[in-house]
Amino acid sequence: TTSVSSSRIQKFELEEDNELRFVVSGREEVTLELINGSAEVFGSVVEKNKKYIFPPGARVAVFTWKKATVELIGTANAYVSPETPMIMYINLHAALEQLRRIADNPTEKDRVGQGPRIMLVGPTDVGKSTLSRILCNYAVRQNRSPIFVDLDVGQNSISAPGTIGAIHINRPADVVDGFERTKPIVYNYGSLQPGDNNALYEKLLITLSQAVSAKTVENVETGISGVIINTCGWIADGGYAAIVQAAQHFEVDIVAVLDQERLYNELQKTLPKFVKIVHLPKSGGVEVRSSEVRLKSRNMAVQRYFYGTRGEQYFPHQFDVPFDEVTVVKVGTESVPEECLPVGMKPEDYSAKVVPFPISPELRHHVLALSPFDSLTQEISTTPVFGFVVVKEVDMIEKKMTVLCPRNELPYPRIFVYTKIEFLDDHNVP
Ligand code: ATP
Repeated sequence: TTSVSSSRIQKFELEEDNELRFVVSGREEVTLELINGSAEVFGSVVEKNKKYIFPPGARVAVFTWKKATVELIGTANAYVSPETPMIMYINLHAALEQLRRIADNPTEKDRVGQGPRIMLVGPTDVGKSTLSRILCNYAVRQNRSPIFVDLDVGQNSISAPGTIGAIHINRPADVVDGFERTKPIVYNYGSLQPGDNNALYEKLLITLSQAVSAKTVENVETGISGVIINTCGWIADGGYAAIVQAAQHFEVDIVAVLDQERLYNELQKTLPKFVKIVHLPKSGGVEVRSSEVRLKSRNMAVQRYFYGTRGEQYFPHQFDVPFDEVTVVKVGTESVPEECLPVGMKPEDYSAKVVPFPISPELRHHVLALSPFDSLTQEISTTPVFGFVVVKEVDMIEKKMTVLCPRNELPYPRIFVYTKIEFLDDHNVP
């Protein structure tokens, strides 16, 4: 017969404002090709007749402002939707661009040099990360270079799970791989819920916001381009407080609330009047993710940190480190109940206290952050980390542990910070 292998070819004709949504549902990759017209994926231009290869599990929307003919090869669940919120998203971009122009205009006294700072909030699975990507892409396509901040410790798109961080965006996201992650500023929080240690989370918010402000002052273009902040989907109780804290510390002037009207109403009551709050619908294409899918996507994020992507592969190393050449510490300890303290003594702040963490088999599979310090100092808790390793084995008899590391040796000093994040590595590193 003439049929080649089992791969399936599907062709779609998109009208103006349509989007093709697909999920790579099998174990094989799926190839996307724009045959005719024009299209974009989350704000990145899709080139005509170029083959874009998506890995299993990827969820993608190919949107067109005009018309497009698109082809998919491989096993994909796909449909065309005529309803998208893209018009509203581009209007938001236009409003941001207007503020950038004002910031760039020396006759306007109030905002000179500092462009918009927008924060995206909403429950989980409403497309906050996707909208941040779209806004960053539209900005950079207009020659802006904003800072993207990701405060989502559960599903961070800049570095490993359990971190918050920022990157400077100066080119559009790769259609498949997203933004380049060169020179990110990354703070290790070490767990997946901001509520686990809210005081530490807030300390890191403050430190990161200062680092970001320094960047917007340092570089005129960056200052004018502004800051785009993604947050986590935890919005009840402490989550709400964390959103308000983030808005304050980052001095945001626009908050875009996705989907949830109640949150929009609440924020209008809580945030100061000069903060503009907008309400936007979520896209029907955003996946509602189960906890297994979330776990899987966290694993993918760690895997990507060590192994890169199909387009840009990394080759990590695996080696043994004697116990006596490393120190493991943990940030935050249980506080001593006040009644246990001597009379007159104030309870100490335990949230960011750096304490030694004993090396034991409990560390197996854990991601550890590499601190730039050479001695046990409190500053470890609020200083950006160098990077990460994964503990693959702990040998209590030989007193050594095996680590997976991006490089072939560990930089000195060797202070590791414990995280609750685990990664099951199914690669065999030579
Ligand atoms: P969380 O706060 O839980 O991390 P989120 O609100 O940031 O979630 P996203 O990460 O933006 O949500 O989106 C969830 C998933 O849905 C992603 O895999 C994304 O690629 C996919 N997605 C987003 N928009 C669309 C769309 N229009 N069509 C198809 N898939 C989409």
